[in-house]
Parts: sequence; structure tokens; C-alpha cells
Amino acid sequence: MSKVLFIVGPGRSGSTLVAELLGQFDAIVNAGEMFWYFNKVGVVPPSRCGCGLPLGECAIWQEVIAGSPAAQNLSSDDLHDFYAMRPIASWPKLFWQGRHGLSNAKNSRILGQMYAALASSSGADLVVDASKLPGIGLVAASIPDVDLYVLHLTRDPRSVVNAWRTPKLDVLSPSDNLGRRPAWQVIWWWVARSLAAEWLLKRRVRPGHFLRLQYEQFADAPRETIEAIIQFVGVDDGGTPFSGPDQATILPSHTVIGNPDRHSTGELTITRRDRWRDELPFPTRLITGLATWPAMRWFGLGRPPSD
Ligand SMILES: [Zn+2]
Repeated sequence: MSKVLFIVGPGRSGSTLVAELLGQFDAIVNAGEMFWYFNKVGVVPPSRCGCGLPLGECAIWQEVIAGSPAAQNLSSDDLHDFYAMRPIASWPKLFWQGRHGLSNAKNSRILGQMYAALASSSGADLVVDASKLPGIGLVAASIPDVDLYVLHLTRDPRSVVNAWRTPKLDVLSPSDNLGRRPAWQVIWWWVARSLAAEWLLKRRVRPGHFLRLQYEQFADAPRETIEAIIQFVGVDDGGTPFSGPDQATILPSHTVIGNPDRHSTGELTITRRDRWRDELPFPTRLITGLATWPAMRWFGLGRPPSD
């Protein structure tokens, strides 16, 4: 039985950093956004693995694919079927299928075998998949030999909208590039993913296997928050990357894709910035707040920094 922590939530919510920190612990391997493995190898510009090698040349991922017969020689129809887990419109269907034991067997096998092979090639007890898309989590929840934990990482939508106003580029790994996105699109993603995480994915995992985390809470107390996640997933806490309450050292890991920041390693100090308070134009701030306030209230978002 593979133990997997699936991170669900909107893009630019801090999942790359949270997953990188978790992946530093001895018992955990961080796959990054594993869903994109095939896309990055075969369809769009090549990605670098988090270790720096082109993804297709990384020994860890070669071993993972060698140990995952279902993931080998995928046809274009197979890939089309695989990426059908991505659109918002597919999530209710995936939820319904999972509930009635009708989940796409091939996609379940691909993900399940890759999780198991990654755990075995890295010797880890837990795989972190930061793919973030609820549809992937719904299929992961239906894999018979996966013990799935879900971390719903949420963040003040005004911060998320503000982050998407600035492109983030990686010349060596163009597939990591994050372009600029209009506020309406980011709000739609934020609302859809939040609701799918809470209404669909939460119902597909066992009691005690779902945790909601606010990025702001993490940034206020990074070490304490990561240690709480370690307790939540029930793995050994050896190999902590933290040298202080908000100081950590990140070593390279074998991540498929993520925010370009995943290639920045070394010592870092994690601080809460809330840049939107200075940078986000008032009309955008107002529209974002109005469009998301019920969910923000529900999640307890929008509070000022604790100190
Ligand atoms: Zn690698």
C-alpha cells in the first residue's frame, strides 16, 4: 500500500514551497506536479527535473517508468484520456465514478504504479504529489492500493490574483513558465478548486485524511505548520530541513514540474509578505473580495499578519 499526500488548491498558492519542504524529510519523496510528467516529456517544451537534469534523463524517473508498466508506451488516445482529468467540467463525473467504483481503471493504474515505483526507488514511506488539480486527486482517491491523504492548500484570493499579474519565467525549463492571467480567470480557478476540494475530494478520503491549510498560516509559522503536516500524515520526522522557526535549507529533489522557484535551493527564510496590500489595484481588490467572500469567510482568510 503506497501512502500519498495529494496537495490540492489554486496555482500560485505556495504549494511548490510546502511540497519542497516536506520532501526534505527522510521518509518523504516529493514528486512535484506529477500529473504533468507525460506532457513535459512528450508534448510541450522539455522540463528539467528538480535535480537539474532533463526529465527524461533523470535516473529516478527512468526507474519510475521502468517500474510502471501501465505508464509505458502511452498512445495519443491514452494521453488524451489521461488529460481528461484536468478540466473543471470533468470533476463531478470523476467524483460520481469514484463513488460508484467506476473510476477510469487505466488512469488509476498509471498513477498508482508511478506512486508505488517512486516510493520504492526513493525508499520513502510517503509520496507528495503537488498536482493541485482536484480531478487528479479524485482519481488518486479511487486507487485501491493507495492510502490517500489530502492537503487543501488555500490562500487569500487577493494574493493569488496579485501573483498571477506578474509572469514568472524559467529559461532553462520553459514548461515551468507561469504567464500572466486575468483576475476573472484566477477567481474562477480559485472558487472552482476550493469548492471541488471541500465538496468532492474531502468526501472521497477516509476520516482524518483531509487537512485544510492556509498559506498565510504556514508563512506565519513555517516550522510549526510543516511539523503539523508530518503528524497529520503519520511519518517519521527525521531529516527536518528547519534550523529555526522560519529558516530552512532546501536540497535538490526530483520534481516533475512546479513554480520555477523549485530550482532554487539552499538556505531560505520564509516570511509572510501579503504584497497584494500594496500592489493590487483597488477595483481588482474589490471585485476579488466580493466574488470570493463567502469562501474566504468559510476558510477564515483575509486576516492580517499575526505579529
Ligand atoms: Zn531528477
